[in-house]
Amino acid sequence: MAGFFDTKIEFLKGIGPQKATLINKELEIFTFGDLIQHYPFRYEDRTKFYSLSELDDSLPNVQVKGKIKRFELVGGGRKKRLVGHFTDGTSSIELVWFQGISWITNKIKPGVEYVVYGKPTRFGSKINITHPEMEVLTAKNEQAAYLSPVYHTSEKLKKKFIDSRAISKYQKSLLVNAVNHIRETLPSEIIQEYKLMDKKRAVVFIHFPNDNKVLQLAQYRLKFEELFFVQLKLLKMKVARMDKFRGAVFNDSSLVTEFYNNHLPFELTNAQKRVIKEVYRDLRSGQQMNRLVQGDVGSGKTIVAFICGLLAISSDAQVALMAPTEILAEQHFNGLKVFCDALGLNIRRLTGSSKKADRNEIHAALEDGSLNVLVGTHALLEEKVKFKNLGLAIIDEQHRFGVAQRAKLWQKNKEVFPHVLVMTATPIPRTLAMTLYGDLDISVIDELPAGRKPIKTIHFYDTNRLKAFGFIAEQIKLGRQVYIVYPLIEESEKLDYKDLMDGYESISRAFPKIPIGILHGRMKPQDKDFEMKRFVKGETKIMVATTVIEVGVNVPNATVMVIENSEKFGLSQLHQLRGRVGRGADQSYCILMSDFKLSKEAKIRIETMVRTNDGFEIAETDLQLRGPGDIMGTMQSGVADLLVSDLAKDGPILQIARECAKKVLDEDPELTTEKYRPIKIQLDNLKKSTVNWSRIS
Ligand code: ADP
Ligand code: MG
Repeated sequence: MAGFFDTKIEFLKGIGPQKATLINKELEIFTFGDLIQHYPFRYEDRTKFYSLSELDDSLPNVQVKGKIKRFELVGGGRKKRLVGHFTDGTSSIELVWFQGISWITNKIKPGVEYVVYGKPTRFGSKINITHPEMEVLTAKNEQAAYLSPVYHTSEKLKKKFIDSRAISKYQKSLLVNAVNHIRETLPSEIIQEYKLMDKKRAVVFIHFPNDNKVLQLAQYRLKFEELFFVQLKLLKMKVARMDKFRGAVFNDSSLVTEFYNNHLPFELTNAQKRVIKEVYRDLRSGQQMNRLVQGDVGSGKTIVAFICGLLAISSDAQVALMAPTEILAEQHFNGLKVFCDALGLNIRRLTGSSKKADRNEIHAALEDGSLNVLVGTHALLEEKVKFKNLGLAIIDEQHRFGVAQRAKLWQKNKEVFPHVLVMTATPIPRTLAMTLYGDLDISVIDELPAGRKPIKTIHFYDTNRLKAFGFIAEQIKLGRQVYIVYPLIEESEKLDYKDLMDGYESISRAFPKIPIGILHGRMKPQDKDFEMKRFVKGETKIMVATTVIEVGVNVPNATVMVIENSEKFGLSQLHQLRGRVGRGADQSYCILMSDFKLSKEAKIRIETMVRTNDGFEIAETDLQLRGPGDIMGTMQSGVADLLVSDLAKDGPILQIARECAKKVLDEDPELTTEKYRPIKIQLDNLKKSTVNWSRIS
């Protein structure tokens, strides 16, 4: 049944078919419902008049009133400008125009009182406002105190006079009729308990607020609602999953005990112990586990995963560990093989480059159950890979795998879905994790093994390259190894490849006697393997590489990470790269090389890296800099289409909304009671709408 909000925007007074087509295309606004949810992204403050003596350039746009005493033409040629000397009795400022000068001198009269609106800037000792908005002062606009909405629009729309003001007019005429169709979506109980504005008023006031207080209440209400329904959906999925999916029960800890008593190479950190306990509780619960383990680089996730696996193996179940790259799979395999050999367990590795004969052996051993642990890449997901009894699937470095792949792993056990443990070194701020992985339980390893020295990070401009090279030479003399990383080689980007090769040559020239390796995405897997092995064994001292080494690689003797063109990397990527060093007992260093010219954001990224080693702090800064859309984009997870909320800022509201959603579902999982009817209706509506909620998890 099509309702009022499904009406096409061409039927709104003032729009019509032509403009509608353009708006459809430029803003993806098709219906009244879309339009009314095209909320302002900021507001101009028309709530008060500043006196001119109060103005300084730290203020945003301001509203003032006064008279132009006289006009003056200053400068010539392209610098010609019109200056209006403007006063309100307390002080005077300059109004400045570079364009439309004759139009202004015709239109604006000295001696007449005007309302002036614009951004004060300081020019020498004088405050001025460039290209201000001006209106003759009237009793009406002197009285009116309001916040004027500013809407996103586009250059194309502006050319057709569909600017922010026009959109504001559409909103006004739409709201007149829409108000009576706006339904309350939250039960009155929740509205009272959380002191929320009702929906009708919130929608009206977010477009046309009288003052900041009302605006804040309106925004809070709409953000709360938005985040509440996102969380409700996610929590419902979780509840549904727990109801539906039984999990194998693993109670036998004999292998765990043996490993702890005889083979554990170091004392586990408290954080590692806590996470293992959390997983064990899941594995004994009878319900399928879907748990995300977050831990900064070097926090020791691998051994945690292995120890969790032992509980499954003790009960005759199998363990699969999937890594995003061959190098990483290799490393996991080598590391875990030592443990498996000690315990008499059978472990194999399966990747894209595994030989046919090996594959056949592996397939057979998986199916007859004689293979306990399989480590590999995407190759694990292939149809032919069948387990006798897969008990635990571990996915390393989650952000490289999609949700679909997680689901494929589930299918590897037909009787009962395997437990799933996802490990990620990309610290995700809690707010984001809750939205992205709302259907996963989260464990955090928030402690590094004892004795790790924090990595020292230094920033050098390219002009100081010699200093950096001197430092590298010193470290190599001390017996250490060095990574030098160049920005990503997208397989097609010839320029990056050239950068890398040029860099390799200049480094070879600077260190003629030192064995140097190279690693990049265009190399064949066996060649990569060869180069990596030489470096691991210490045969090469410097590894020139692209970001292929980013994920997980572990060479404790490598203590220097040089990142070339560091201004081109994102913050979390820099942090990931830095995590390749600092894995042994020696002091490690990260050297960020950069161009002299840095954008404001690049500067913040580099400063943040120099200041802190804390992955979560870095993730927060990253979130502030890039915004959640971008971050989630790189995680290939898709974004919840949030209209009012900003995950970078609205963490506290998210928290409250999530708790509220939890309470509701605890009380009434199916939302059948009368008082939760509005929620049920809204949920069904959301399901119908074009927003693809399934992308959220
Ligand atoms: P990540 O969390 O980045 O995957 P790894 O699992 O690769 O980290 O561990 C990094 C290094 O730290 C490995 O060499 C590992 O053996 C070692 N390690 C892990 N836990 C501890 C611990 N509790 N004490 C000392 N070293 C540890
Ligand atoms: Mg790892």
